Order: sequence, then C-alpha cells, then structure tokens
Amino acid sequence: MEETRYPFSLPPLPYPADALAPFIDEETMRIHHEKHMQGYVDGLNRLLAPCPQFHSLTLCGLLRYNHLLPYKIQVEVARQAGGVYNHANYFEGLSPSGGAPEGRLLQRVKNQFSSLADLKNRILTCALSVFGSGYAMLCSDGGGKLSIQPFQNQQTPVPLGLYPLVTVDVWEHAYYLKEQNRRAAYLESWWQVVNWQHASRQYACLVSD
Ligand code: MN
Repeated sequence: MEETRYPFSLPPLPYPADALAPFIDEETMRIHHEKHMQGYVDGLNRLLAPCPQFHSLTLCGLLRYNHLLPYKIQVEVARQAGGVYNHANYFEGLSPSGGAPEGRLLQRVKNQFSSLADLKNRILTCALSVFGSGYAMLCSDGGGKLSIQPFQNQQTPVPLGLYPLVTVDVWEHAYYLKEQNRRAAYLESWWQVVNWQHASRQYACLVSD
C-alpha cells in the first residue's frame, strides 16, 4: 500500500472478515474496512483528482512531502492519506494466527524490553493514554531502534522517519460495536490477534545487512 499511487483503491482484507472473532467481531471488521477505510481512500482520490501533478507521488510520498503540496490541500491530504496508511497497517498487522515476535525482532525486544509482557504493557498503556481518537504504534527507526509512539487522529510516523511494525487503532469505531466504551477490553482482545509474523518480517527487512 505504501508504494501505491493515485487512483488509490481499497486493498482487500488479508483474511476473511470473521477470521478474528471472537477477539474482533465480523460486523466491526466489515464496517471498519468497507466504510471507514473506504472513506479515506475516496477522500484522498477526490482531493487529488484535480491535481494531476501529484498523481506520481506514492502514498508515503504524499505524507513525507506533504509540506511541499499547495497550502489549501496540505492538511486534508495529510488526514486522508494518513487514514489510508494507518488503516492499511492496522489491518495488515492482524491475523488469527500471528504467532509471536521472532528472529531479529525478538532479539531486539529482548534487548530493549524486559519481556514480551513488558512490551505489551507499554503498548497498551500508550494506547490507553491517547486522548480522543488516534493510534499507538510499535515503531522502528532506520537503525532498528524500537519505540512506542502515540499518534492523534490520522497522524503517521512517516514524517518522523519511523516505520510502524505494530499499529493499534483506538478510534471508537474500531471497538464500539462490541466493547462500547471499554477501550482496555478491546486492547486485550487486539493483543490476541497481532500479526507478529508480519511485524517480524517488516523488521527483518529494515535491519538486513
Ligand atoms: Mn479506524
């Protein structure tokens, strides 16, 4: 998704919509993917349609070079492109059989955190601390150093030069149908379906010699 260009399209879920139940229910997944993420895809295409000079920019390019776009569309492109980028990472980062951190990522987690339980606690604490809508992410910098970052609304780690390995969406639409106001309960469910194989592969690509 990061390297795709205008016109953007909704990537299919990499698993059936009911695959994450009972941790994340089918109706939540369908509405989240087909309505919310689709809304960002459509919004981004609508903004860029009259601006063919930017059609060669990738999704990441639109976020990284956002400050070079015309003022009148900068903020809205950042919101819509951010919504596409963050949702792509969120959905790709889930799996009914995601395993546990492995390889280089496992080594780094052991070096930087006292245990996987410690990492979990820090990610969930970060996700609970997001006021209103946003995300918590386990990110890597270009050198492989891990950090846990909160983001408001549809801000992304791209302008910070960070790569998201694990993304949790804490907008209420991500959990309200099943968990209502219980963000902590949603986070415990989400933790059960993190795609650590995906995160481990992404990390291995970043730090490969
Ligand atoms: Mn969302």
